[in-house]
Amino acid sequence: MFFFRTNDNAAAINIGLMGGTFDPIHVGHLVTAEEARQQFDLDYVVFVPTGNPPHKEKEIITLPEHRYLMTSLAVMSNPYFFVSSVEINSEKPSYTIDTVKHFSGNEKEGPALFFITGADAILEIFSWKDYEKLLRLCTFIAVSRPGYSLDRFRETLDQVCPDMINKVHLLEIPALAVSSTYIRERVALGKTIKYLTPEPVEQYIKKHGLYLTG
Ligand code: ATP
Ligand code: MG
Repeated sequence: MFFFRTNDNAAAINIGLMGGTFDPIHVGHLVTAEEARQQFDLDYVVFVPTGNPPHKEKEIITLPEHRYLMTSLAVMSNPYFFVSSVEINSEKPSYTIDTVKHFSGNEKEGPALFFITGADAILEIFSWKDYEKLLRLCTFIAVSRPGYSLDRFRETLDQVCPDMINKVHLLEIPALAVSSTYIRERVALGKTIKYLTPEPVEQYIKKHGLYLTG
């Protein structure tokens, strides 16, 4: 895999994974990933757009090709950021456990994996497939997000999975109350989305007429 260091003596590298629909990617995702990268000394952050998210089956989401390309445009200027097509290329629904296994390779020599999520997503982790295995395979970085309480998550983890408390780190970031839903709604209303997402993404949305119907 292209992420492994070639130096034999080097410790395993730290990879951050950030899953999401990214419909579209926005400054909330980017600030979150960059802060996690610096605070946890991550060598890379890989954004993994979902193909067919099991929990969003009933919602209409934008074609994976568009979401993948917008994510690629957004990370272009950051040398530590990458995008993976592993989930969008999969025919099956995307489960985080499969994605994490994909990146963990041979566990002994593989990278140390850090899965970055917002406070809303981490609150749902107990409904994810094989969440206990997941908590063993990677460390979670749960990032604050306006409107969601990380304290509640900490309490639940304490009750459901107390052994794993050291596998979830909580990270406070500058509050960004932006969401993809908010951006889609603004585009549908003809409102500006400037500065809510990087300019190339804004231009891509315009060029392809995305989100016009809300
Ligand atoms: P939607 O409104 O369509 O659900 P979203 O803005 O929540 O979109 P997702 O693609 O669902 O974006 O989220 C991907 C990941 O990014 C999740 O872990 C989510 O919690 C996190 N995230 C999204 N926006 C923020 C934000 N403003 N601050 C912190 N984390 C965020
Ligand atoms: Mg969301």
